[in-house]
Amino acid sequence: MSKSQSKPQSFKGNKSYLPTKPCAVCGKDMAWRRSWAKNWDEVKYCSDACRKAAPKTGSK
Ligand SMILES: [Zn+2]
Repeated sequence: MSKSQSKPQSFKGNKSYLPTKPCAVCGKDMAWRRSWAKNWDEVKYCSDACRKAAPKTGSK
């Protein structure tokens, strides 16, 4: 007899998970913040200090 037990391996409902990514300047992991929800892709620096320390990438 073989039972096919397929455990669902979805991470749905795991609300404790928050995306993180390293700061472009200091490399420190930044945890996702609610205020970044709209521009998470654009967030590169963990703080204003790092933002100012970052080299400017020319004109936008
Ligand atoms: Zn930083």
